[in-house]
Amino acid sequence: MTGSAVSKGLAKGNVVKIERPTIEIPKTKCTNQEACLDTFENALEASKDDLKAIQAKAKDTLDAEHLAIFDAHLQMVDDIEIVKQVKEKIAAGMNPLAAYYDVTESFKAMFEAMDDPYFKERASDIKDIQTRVLAHMAGTPLKDLALLDDDAIIVADDLTPSDTAALDLSKVKGFATEIGGYTSHTAIMARALGLPAVVGVSGIMTLNEGDLVLLNGNTGVLEVNPDEASLQAFEKALQAYEETLERQAKFQALKGLTKDGKSVPLYANIGSVKDMPKALENGAEGIGLFRTEFLFMESEKAPSLESQIEAYAAVFKLMQPVIVRTLDIGGDKALPYLKMPHEDNPFLGVRAIRLCFNELELFKTQLKALLIAGKDYPDVRIMFPMIARLDELLKAKAILDDVKKELKAANTPYQTNILVGIMIEIPAAALNARTLAKHVDFFSIGTNDLIQYTYAADRMNDGVSYLYEPLDPTLLRLMESTVEAAHAENTEIGVCGEMASDPVAALILAGMGMDELSMSAAALLDVKDHLSRYTLDELKALKEKALAADTAAEVKALFND
Ligand code: PEP
Ligand code: MG
Repeated sequence: MTGSAVSKGLAKGNVVKIERPTIEIPKTKCTNQEACLDTFENALEASKDDLKAIQAKAKDTLDAEHLAIFDAHLQMVDDIEIVKQVKEKIAAGMNPLAAYYDVTESFKAMFEAMDDPYFKERASDIKDIQTRVLAHMAGTPLKDLALLDDDAIIVADDLTPSDTAALDLSKVKGFATEIGGYTSHTAIMARALGLPAVVGVSGIMTLNEGDLVLLNGNTGVLEVNPDEASLQAFEKALQAYEETLERQAKFQALKGLTKDGKSVPLYANIGSVKDMPKALENGAEGIGLFRTEFLFMESEKAPSLESQIEAYAAVFKLMQPVIVRTLDIGGDKALPYLKMPHEDNPFLGVRAIRLCFNELELFKTQLKALLIAGKDYPDVRIMFPMIARLDELLKAKAILDDVKKELKAANTPYQTNILVGIMIEIPAAALNARTLAKHVDFFSIGTNDLIQYTYAADRMNDGVSYLYEPLDPTLLRLMESTVEAAHAENTEIGVCGEMASDPVAALILAGMGMDELSMSAAALLDVKDHLSRYTLDELKALKEKALAADTAAEVKALFND
């Protein structure tokens, strides 16, 4: 069986299926109003108890972003509108299961009909709580996923966040699901947990409980009840993989160095302070991308100045330098408290800096928080996302200057020497890098978007994923010319897109002379390992060959040894 490989690694184990119970929705009328209301309210309470217990259990394994999902679920269970509508239906004589089912189905349909992928995903959250509440009402609470045998490969239609959090992860080796893509809950959770996962595997639910599965999170291939030869081959690969992990552990204490000892600073990307332990453990030399949007997505209203100062300073005190990216909302990310009109092409719409210009107070509060939080830390940097043109950069800098003046006038201490940079993630910015470089201290190339906009290939759309190829020579040439332009103006340049997490791509980027590479913390050791095998001159020579190639396949072949 095959699917999309969304979280790397190899796993061998036995199928544990997570099946949603089929709950019959009775057609009978409610004859005793009080009893029906009790059934409904008790089920809500029991569901909240479940969710709180799961959340408490997951506290040590999941970061703030993922734990926040449970707050959202708890809020959905208590949602005033849902509860009101269910009670009205019960009062009108409907039985509580049917009433709850009807109401939550209509909410689910409403989310499903939305164009915005963020809100579309919320339909699965409604489904998740619907199943839990109905199961309680039916007197068949969901199966306890904390009781697993060793070496479990979790197989499901789609894993909900509460499924993943309820699992006894010490027994789980990997995940395989029928639906989902790179940004589905299963994929995000698996990567956060460092477990291999393959999603979008058609027919996976036909497997039987206990079937032996060999799961390859690098290729997306699953072998079920393999023959002896396949089993042996896989076990060899698994052993080699485990040995690699063991061998690479020594790189935790080392910096990014080429074979001849030239430094290639390797930084980590984080979404919150919860990601810092992994970054520190794997020896990140800085934070090359602090995505701040999760802080803004966690709650029902915009985070206050004080809570932002606290969240930023919590990271600054653990590591320097830190590049903090200002709010990148829009595209696939929405904020419940912002008016965000429907857009036909949200990735080409009012996103990131464009949205911040429209939401000036929100933007200025963030800048203020960063300046104040950074006051005792010498190497905190601010980065503006989605800059397409010089006038946008100048406008963003002018707003930052205004904020500094306001702080000065109020006698509020702040970091006066903050460095300012931009993401290079729109082709126009890459092509105009020489001019932009005159106005900033640093660049960071966001390849996730640079690829999307250069090849006109939606990064969320599986149908065009073949165009999503970081090693395509055209992209490499665009990046090389950006490095040349930056360095001609003495402007530092790094990469913070997913591309830097790919060891082969990282070698080419080092050969281009990038001043830092920032990646998911889990990728640091593999990249350090690869860097240590080449001299800088060898990497420059390989980069030249890559730039002269016609296809990504030719580029990959350069590193086949
Ligand atoms: C990028 O576009 O490469 C990037 C790092 O930003 P994001 O993935 O958050 O858009
Ligand atoms: Mg981006």
